[in-house]
Amino acid sequence: MRTLFPGLLGNEKLKAELSPLLAAEGSPFHALIVEGPQGSGKYTFAVQFAAALSCARRGEADGPLPCCECASCRKILRGISPDVITVDSADRATLGVDTVRDLRSDVHIYPNDLDLKVYIIKGADTMTAQAQNAFLLTLEEPPAYAVFILLCRNSGALLETVRSRAPVLRMQPLPPDLTAEAVMRAVPGAAGIRSSDPARFEAAVMSSAGSAGRAIELLNSREGRQAEELRSEVAEFVSLCAVRGGGAEAMGALVRGCGNTRDGAVRFLSSAADAVRDLSVIKRAQDAPLLFYADRGRAAELSDRFPSGRLVALYDAVSDAVDAAGRGMNIRLTLMSLLSDARII
Ligand SMILES: [Zn+2]
Repeated sequence: MRTLFPGLLGNEKLKAELSPLLAAEGSPFHALIVEGPQGSGKYTFAVQFAAALSCARRGEADGPLPCCECASCRKILRGISPDVITVDSADRATLGVDTVRDLRSDVHIYPNDLDLKVYIIKGADTMTAQAQNAFLLTLEEPPAYAVFILLCRNSGALLETVRSRAPVLRMQPLPPDLTAEAVMRAVPGAAGIRSSDPARFEAAVMSSAGSAGRAIELLNSREGRQAEELRSEVAEFVSLCAVRGGGAEAMGALVRGCGNTRDGAVRFLSSAADAVRDLSVIKRAQDAPLLFYADRGRAAELSDRFPSGRLVALYDAVSDAVDAAGRGMNIRLTLMSLLSDARII
C-alpha cells in the first residue's frame, strides 16, 4: 500500500479517491478543481499531485508517492521545475483575461523535461467572466500534455461551462492533532510557543476550524490573542455553570464575556455552545471529536460534574441565545432568559 501525498496531512478521503486513479500512466484529469478555505492545504495538495504525476517511482507498488527523492520530485517540490507553473493574480483582486492569454500562449510550448506540463491556478474563482471564457477555449481542446489544477475557495463562482469540464475535489478540515502538527512543521518557533504558552497555541489550533494556514495566522496575530482571551472567558463561564449555586458568579462571567457589542455576544455565545456541546458528547463517547476543548481529560472531568439533564438544558439555552442575539433581540434580555432557562439563576 502506498502512502499518497506524504507532504499533505489528513485529507484521507481525497487520498483514497485519487489513489486508484494514479495507478495508470499519464494524468487522470486534464483539469481538476480543488475547493477549500484559505490555509486548508490546496496549494500543498496541487504541488504534491503534480510531483506524483511525474515521479520516477510512480509505477512501484509501495513507498510514498511522490517519493520526494527522484530528480523530478525534488525539482517540483522545491518549486523550480519549468513544467509546473503557478498562475496567480499578482496581488490584484481578480484574475484577468491578460493573465489567461499569457497562459494560453505558454500552453502550446512543449514541456521542458517532464512528460506533462501542470498549471496550478491560484484563486481560480476570482477569474473574471471574460477570463473564464478565454480559459474555456484552452480547456475545450488542451494539448495532450497539459494539466490544469484550479484552486478556489468557492467553486460556485466558476462558470458552469468550466465546472462541467473538471471534477471538484474538496479539502477536508484537519482534526486538532493534525492542525497542531501542521503548525509545528510550518512555523519554526511553534514548538517553543507550545511549551511556554500552551493556551496561546491551543487557542490558535482550536479556533482555526481545521485550517492549518488559519491556525498559523492566529498564532501570531492580535486576533489570535483575542481568540485566546475569549476561550478562557468561555471556559470559566462553563465551569462556573457546573457549580451548584454558582449563579451570581456564572452570571458575572457571562456578562463580562459577552461585552458591550452584539458581535461580541454572538462570538461568546457561539463558542460557549461549542464548549457545552463537547461536554455533552464526551459523556456518551470518550473519543468523540471535540470543537472547543483541546484537553480531552479536562473536558471529561468537567463533564462528570454536570448531570446530563443539566447539560442538555444549558446547551438548549445557549443555542437559543445565539439565535436570539443573531436575530437582533435585546442582548440583556437574551442573557437573562439564558440564565433562567439553564436554571443558573
Ligand atoms: Zn519521485
